[in-house]
Amino acid sequence: MSAKIIDGKAFAATVRTQVAEHVSRLKQDHGITPGLAVVLVGEDPASQVYVRSKGKQTTEVGMKSVEHKLEVDTSEPDLLAVIDQLNNDPDIHGILVQLPLPKHLDEDLVINSIDPAKDVDGFHISNVGLLGTGQKSMVPCTPLGCLMMLRDYHGSLSGMDAVVIGRSNIVGKPMAQLLLGDSCTVTIAHSRTKDLADVVRRADIVVAAVGRPEMVPGDWIKPGATVIDVGINRLDAPERGEGKTRLVGDVDYDSCAAVAGAITPVPGGVGPMTIACLLANTVTACCRANGLAEPEGLTA
Ligand code: NAD
Repeated sequence: MSAKIIDGKAFAATVRTQVAEHVSRLKQDHGITPGLAVVLVGEDPASQVYVRSKGKQTTEVGMKSVEHKLEVDTSEPDLLAVIDQLNNDPDIHGILVQLPLPKHLDEDLVINSIDPAKDVDGFHISNVGLLGTGQKSMVPCTPLGCLMMLRDYHGSLSGMDAVVIGRSNIVGKPMAQLLLGDSCTVTIAHSRTKDLADVVRRADIVVAAVGRPEMVPGDWIKPGATVIDVGINRLDAPERGEGKTRLVGDVDYDSCAAVAGAITPVPGGVGPMTIACLLANTVTACCRANGLAEPEGLTA
């Protein structure tokens, strides 16, 4: 195994420390406490785990954490009323609606009803447009975390060939925009891409965001390339005991690590960076709302 392991867990801890320092300065110098509200509709077990973890990490860095847990059959007007109330609450600087929403709710409508300045997930159509035109925006947390790790490892990304596998609005598309913003030559590959292996072999940077366990084998990777594995896939692991599972990414870790120059592991790579970037976005939103200088290195 030759690749350097990019330790997202350690990196996320440094991001959280930076956020905590900034929060403490905001309190001391300006009497402001950044506030993050998370709205969860229904009882999806994975979402409940994420929301709990977000709330815990928010308070750990000294910010105010508010959780709105709504019944699974909450009507759209009732959900929009909660968002409206948070939009108008001066103590709340970030609002996150946990996805996926129950089927009867229109996700686009709900996300686009969040005040774009408080849209710490960066999914509001205004933020998507601002990012696409290279203007100051709220940047989606997972791609922001990937970008931070890439910048940290490479310094400049200018001129590098980057292939993003996956074209979702949450990861693939904003990731491609961020890499373009850093002057990479960007290819977005997806389920209809012809000869994906050939496309990936050209890449200096591969970001895999597909949701298919271990689909990228090492012989697709250009020697020395940097591999960022966004995928989180749970597989049965009977070898660990009855009913046990294990997490794997979208790349086949061992064969890719043997060829790559650097690689993020799963778990412990992109995952921890996502919540750290949510906290970073909340501080950024709070600073912008108050006309104060933003923390350096925590935005795109
Ligand atoms: P998605 O299902 O919305 O999108 C998957 C994309 O992969 C699609 O654009 C599709 O075109 C593409 N795709 C599907 N099959 C393909 C194939 N055979 N070849 C090439 N492309 C193919 O998923 P998403 O929300 O973007 O998430 C992707 C993965 O990242 C999932 O495993 C998800 O759990 C994970 N994820 C992790 C984090 C994190 O914090 N680490 C955050 C978000 C998503």
